[in-house]
Order: sequence, then structure tokens, then C-alpha cells
Amino acid sequence: MTEHDLTARARRVLAECRLLAGMTEEPGGITRRFLTLPVRDVHAHLSARMKSLGMAVRVDAIGNLRGLWHPPNAGMRRLQIGSHIDTVPNAGAFDGVLGVVLALELVETALEKIALVQNAREREPMALEVIAFSEEEGVRYGAPFLGSRAFAGSFDPRLLALEDADGVRMDAAVRAFGLDPEAIDEAALDPKEVLGFFEIHIEQGPVLEAEDLQLAVVEGIVGQSRLAFRFTGQANHAGTTPMHLRHDALAAAAEWIVAVESIAGTEDGLAATVGKLDVQPNAANVVPGAVELSLDVRHMSNLTRTHWVRSLINAAQSAAHKRGVEVTWSENLDQPAVEMDKRLTAELAEALQACGLPAKRMPSGAGHDAMMMAARVPAAMLFLRSPGGISHHPDESVREEDVEAALRVGAKFLERLAAFVG
Ligand SMILES: [Zn+2]
Repeated sequence: MTEHDLTARARRVLAECRLLAGMTEEPGGITRRFLTLPVRDVHAHLSARMKSLGMAVRVDAIGNLRGLWHPPNAGMRRLQIGSHIDTVPNAGAFDGVLGVVLALELVETALEKIALVQNAREREPMALEVIAFSEEEGVRYGAPFLGSRAFAGSFDPRLLALEDADGVRMDAAVRAFGLDPEAIDEAALDPKEVLGFFEIHIEQGPVLEAEDLQLAVVEGIVGQSRLAFRFTGQANHAGTTPMHLRHDALAAAAEWIVAVESIAGTEDGLAATVGKLDVQPNAANVVPGAVELSLDVRHMSNLTRTHWVRSLINAAQSAAHKRGVEVTWSENLDQPAVEMDKRLTAELAEALQACGLPAKRMPSGAGHDAMMMAARVPAAMLFLRSPGGISHHPDESVREEDVEAALRVGAKFLERLAAFVG
């Protein structure tokens, strides 16, 4: 592939993403929820491209669009490449979709390569399946990863009874799209037939830009703890209660919030956030009597995360104790980290280096389809720099030279995998 080809391909990828962004529930913005009308347009567009590449196209029962490219004499096991085509409300043009469009570009590159390699009779290429997952964001039904859950065989049929904001049950939405909710089980993949899953996605954060890097190998998806805290003091008159006789729940909570920020800053890769606050009675002339707060803690190591959660609980107790305030808490989520496959990840890192790029490794702070797929097949993930660190926003973007780099690295990664498969 010449540099000129690469630039042309990168431009085409960006143009495709922008074109797909026009397929939206609300003109002027990008919103495309699970199995809504614009999803049909996206399917039609992507299917046409898949067919033009000689791929066998189907839509499974949860609405994942799947295109299989199976060159003659390739082995039965295929590499799956993909990402999601649903969006958050008022989204950007690249979250998810970019990974699908890039996957198709990689198929086209592989096709062209075969034409050359077949003459040389070097080796048989490997089969590729491109997946456009129907649902990842969880916007329509409040349940994320519907598409990849079905693949991983972890789709809970009770989800079908969920209703969207308009009172449409999920099973009715599936039927309205022309699919059979009874057949969702059949979407589950047979790990024996799959070599692995590869997802290319924008970083959706500021790390790569801050380090002046284009791409990174994702080591895994961080684990997450969510806790609810309640500081209970004594509500009282703001004028008649002297400072030294107060039990101000908000002052205790505020001291703790600042402690959370500084404690979290001492551990590499730890993110701890108090994002929600409910002050009672929340009146200008009353000493706050109680505060309820959320705490979100994430880290790639489960041990490290649980260690710091305990430490942040201790900090809450000491902040409360100083002011004669009570603190209680409950843990609402303890989601373990998901590691990407070591072997595939090492191959991906080698591909970066072979392309003259630093093999930066980083965890993902957000969930992705690769997280669900990793439960079933070896998974690897590549991040592209997010300009301004902006995502889930109309200003979300991606740089052409980074798309070029992703194409180069993706093609090299496929080449390396084909070599160890063959
Ligand atoms: Zn995404």
C-alpha cells in the first residue's frame, strides 16, 4: 500500500463516517438508538459496501450486521473486527462507527493483497468477519452492550421485557425491525470458529493527545466500584448555631471530596470521582443536616481498586468524625476489570512498532464491546487519539493522519495474525 493509497483510504474513512452521521433520528444532530429507523439506512449502506467486497451479509436476531469475507482455502477460523453503530443522543460522528468503517477498509486492503500474494502462492489468507454491533451505549433501554452480549452468549432474555421512553418493549422493537427475539441465542458465537475479536475505537479521553501519540494498544477495560455515601449531621439555624457547636454534614462531605481527589492522585491509573451530591435541606439559612454522595472508583487492577476503596471509606469516616457527623455507605457496583488477550495484544504492540510507532499501552476507562467479547474469545483493541479529548459530543473528531496510522497498523496486525494462523 503506497502512502498515496493510505491517504486516500483515510479520507474515504472520514467521509464514510460523516455520511453515516447523516443517518439520524434528529436532523441537525446525531442520535441513533438501538433498532430505530436510521439504523436501517446504516445497514443498507454498510451491506452494499460489504457485498461489493464479496462478503456474505446477514443481520442476526439482535440486529448486529455481520459481513463474512471467506477467501477460498482460508481456514474455518475467522478474525472478527468491529464496533457499534448506535450512538448517544447528540453524539459525534466517530464513536463506534469509525471502527466499523475501518474494518471494511482493512478487508479491502486484504483483498488487494491476496491478488498479489496468490500469484506468489505464499500462504492462504485468513477469513475476516466485520461486525456492526447494534447496541453498545444503552441509551434506548438503559441496558448497554446488547449486541455484544448476544455474541458472548450472555444476553439475558429478561431484558426483552424492558420498555423504552415511548413504552415500546424491547421484544416488540426487535420484531418491528423484522427480527425474531426468540432467536437471539443463535447469535452466540462458537469460540472454536473464531480466532479473536479486534476493535478499533477512538480513545474518548485526553491521554494520547497529552502525550503526543497517535495510537495505543488497550490493555484492558478498568474495573469499577460504585458506592453511595450518606453524611448525617444536625440541621440547625444558620444564624443562632455558633460555628464550634455545629455538626455540618456538608462541610464534612466537602472535606472528604477534596480528600478523594488528592488521595486518588497518589496512585497511578486510579480514577475516583464524587459526581453527585444531594444536600438536605438545601436551604441558604440552614446548617446542612445530611448529604448523600456518589463515589465512582476505577482501576485496571482489581486489588488496587478495592484497596483504595477501603482507604476512601476510611477518609470519609475521619472527615465525619472531626465534626461529630455520622457516615454510612453501601456498595452498588463491583465490576471486575477485563483484560485483553495477552497474545493478541502483544501482536498488536509489535504491529505498532513495525510501523515505526511507539507501542503505548493504556487501559480503557470506558466500557466497550471488546469487554463483552473477551469473555468468549481472545480480544484486542486499538485506540486512536481523540482531539481535545472530546467524545459523546458533536465536536468529537479524529485526525486524518491518525486514521492513516490505524490503517497501517491494522493491516500489519492482520498480516502477523495470518502468519501465525497459517
Ligand atoms: Zn463507543
